[in-house]
Amino acid sequence: MPSFQSIFLAAFCITFGLKLWLLLRQMRHVWQHKDTPPNAFADSIPLAEHQKAAAYTLAKSRVGLLNLALEGALLYGFTLGGGLQRLQDALSTMVSQPLLAGVGVLLGLTLISGAVELPLNFYRQFRIETQFGFNRQTPGGFLADLLKQTLIGLALGGPLILLVLWLMGIMGETWWLWVWAVWMGFNLLLLTVYPTVIAPLFNKFTPLEDRDLKQRIEALLERAGFHASGVFVMDGSRRSSHGNAYFTGLGKNKRIVFYDTLLSQLTPEQIEAVLAHELGHFKHRHIVKRIGLMFVLSLVMLALLAALKDAGWFYQGLGVASQTNALALALFFLTLPVFLFPLSPLMSLYSRKHEFEADAFAAALTHPGHLVSALVRLYRDNAATLTPDPVYSLFYDSHPKAVERIGKLESYTQVSQPLQPIQA
Ligand SMILES: [Zn+2]
Repeated sequence: MPSFQSIFLAAFCITFGLKLWLLLRQMRHVWQHKDTPPNAFADSIPLAEHQKAAAYTLAKSRVGLLNLALEGALLYGFTLGGGLQRLQDALSTMVSQPLLAGVGVLLGLTLISGAVELPLNFYRQFRIETQFGFNRQTPGGFLADLLKQTLIGLALGGPLILLVLWLMGIMGETWWLWVWAVWMGFNLLLLTVYPTVIAPLFNKFTPLEDRDLKQRIEALLERAGFHASGVFVMDGSRRSSHGNAYFTGLGKNKRIVFYDTLLSQLTPEQIEAVLAHELGHFKHRHIVKRIGLMFVLSLVMLALLAALKDAGWFYQGLGVASQTNALALALFFLTLPVFLFPLSPLMSLYSRKHEFEADAFAAALTHPGHLVSALVRLYRDNAATLTPDPVYSLFYDSHPKAVERIGKLESYTQVSQPLQPIQA
């Protein structure tokens, strides 16, 4: 029998090797296609814009290489490098209450990882995003956001971790079922309060005001049989010129959010088509399905953790000598992604299937040509690559490749009227 440590090391090498290989493939593919946009986009995306998208993708991928090295070093450092054990030793001498020391270990782990990744995030925002004309944030604003995120994370995460560790200590064999119930409740609560309580701490949300657009949208919501607390505009332009739209919340709190940047990029017909796509996610119950899947998976994970929690080999194999509930949680959630990454094409496939379904819904509810022109405009304005590496895309892309997505939509167009290319 190979030791658990050697199994972990093998998974570590496979996952990081795979990630490196995928990133290098992506860089090579984008580089090779930088002067030749796909035929379907030859009329709608000027060569200079296509080249800009390639340069932008390459710049982000180079930071991705650094990020990968950092991610690997952090994981190794915390586990076999002895970092977690040192954190545990330091906290148990500072805090005499074991439960609170456990909370400290988990929060410390999160804060250290965040601090190590900070310089790269700063570089992304103020070097790459600025260089390509997307950044609208000042370093002061960036740090203020970071501070706010950290405080909210501590305010929500601290009590949650405390409750979870307490349940693990007191509930005996069935602790994982209790923790699962708490985790479900926490997620549902977060989904309910996020749109109205948390998101407004970072952005201003105003009800959509444009009269014509509002009427158009209300007519569309009526046709789709959708009742939401409203359609809101978010001041995304205060951080970035990237445009987007999303659907959030649960029950009566669900809302549709447009970035102000998206509204300024698209025509009313295009905005209607993007909204119809978002409604497609709602009509097909994609959010509910995802939540359901997440609940099933987290139950499986917790059952697995329950089996590992008292196994000495689990701790020793990952470089930790002490056996505490907090360390079990830390080791489990640190190392799980290493074992699961080779399965990520499955989740991406699931997500892309949903995108196709939402597109089909939008094509039927509005005109497929409008969604096509909206997407082309967004690909262009966001400098999104039209030529990702197919294997890279298989692993990482939550949305179908531009060529496939537009191709599918155009097959719906053929029964109505031909597509009109947008003007530059
Ligand atoms: Zn979508």
